[in-house]
Amino acid sequence: MKNTDTPGPFLITYDKRQYMKIISIESFILTDKLKESFYFSQWEYSERQICIVKITSNTGHVGWGEGYGPARIIKAGIEHLTPFVVGQNPLETETIWSTMYRRTLDFSRRGILVSAMSALDVALWDLKGKILDQPVHLMLGGKKRGIVTPYATGMYFANRKDLGGDLAKEAAMYVRSGFKALKMKVGLSLERDIEYVKLVRNAIGPGIKLMIDANHAYNLREAITLAKAVEPYDIYWFEEPLSPEYYHQYSELRTKTSIPIAAGECEYLRFGFQTLLQSNSVDILQPDICASGGLTEAKKIATLASVYGVEVVPHTWGTGIAIATALHFVANLEIFPGRLYPPGQFMEYDRTENGLREELTQSSMKVVNGEIKISDAPGLGFEMNEDALHKYSMKEFI
Ligand SMILES: [Mg+2]
Repeated sequence: MKNTDTPGPFLITYDKRQYMKIISIESFILTDKLKESFYFSQWEYSERQICIVKITSNTGHVGWGEGYGPARIIKAGIEHLTPFVVGQNPLETETIWSTMYRRTLDFSRRGILVSAMSALDVALWDLKGKILDQPVHLMLGGKKRGIVTPYATGMYFANRKDLGGDLAKEAAMYVRSGFKALKMKVGLSLERDIEYVKLVRNAIGPGIKLMIDANHAYNLREAITLAKAVEPYDIYWFEEPLSPEYYHQYSELRTKTSIPIAAGECEYLRFGFQTLLQSNSVDILQPDICASGGLTEAKKIATLASVYGVEVVPHTWGTGIAIATALHFVANLEIFPGRLYPPGQFMEYDRTENGLREELTQSSMKVVNGEIKISDAPGLGFEMNEDALHKYSMKEFI
């Protein structure tokens, strides 16, 4: 810890604050061709492509952000928003957010422009942390937990001779490496889903939490059938059983199964999450911070969830920027419910092939014995690997 009696670089005078300015925004499309394609209930992945953004201030500091969704469209969104951000004071994250929101509201109350705005907002929080020499969780209001429990997201589908057997082996490998909770894909067909869930549960034993994710592959009747059939396998939550538009069907499903229902990765802004909460659609809310409005909005979404008494476990997918963002966010999340021995906090931790996630950033926030210790390093707490950025980047400057 710094000695606060000694003036340091973190003490910034009013004059200095006044003259702080964002001087440039660059966005990069990063692509990693996969060695083996994988798929889920909706489509196949043969590459990972992500748009990240770099914001530089006249103080010489740099912040990084990432958008979740189709990279080229997010890049176009960032280009659209750039004139409203350059020249602004980088410490005024919420003021800049409001300007970006006002300039997109008429065209994009959900979707890709909100993801572009999210990327810029995340980069602004990282930048503010670097300027003030403070971790993002502290600027969000403080760290309510120092340890987070990542759950391994994997068990996607691939063209294999014995897919069920391979899914079971993959699950057992995550358990051996220390994960205490795993999430597998469902949504191929009810018969195959039930068979694979049984194989995976048998492979990992009773002590490990197991979630299933259909990526909205089913209608209400099918979702009820699947939920009933897998209830004996102790499923911790059933994620996106139904299309995200059918709020009322989500709430009906909740009354028909003992498995908690999770959703939110296709939702945007506090207004979208309000609909999900008001309709009693979910037990677990899953905003993606790099899509739903950035850290500025995610904090408001979490506050809204606390009004409804709904747990928040963010969706994450992408590079170490998105992972670090989610870690700082969950470090700050309210402990709910409060009690002498509080519950742990889960966070999604994608384990599918992704060179970008492995190489782009270097951070002390790594999984050790199934847990991640939150870093107190400034900003989002990672170093950008410029070699990896060059390697994966198509280097398209705005
Ligand atoms: Mg999901």
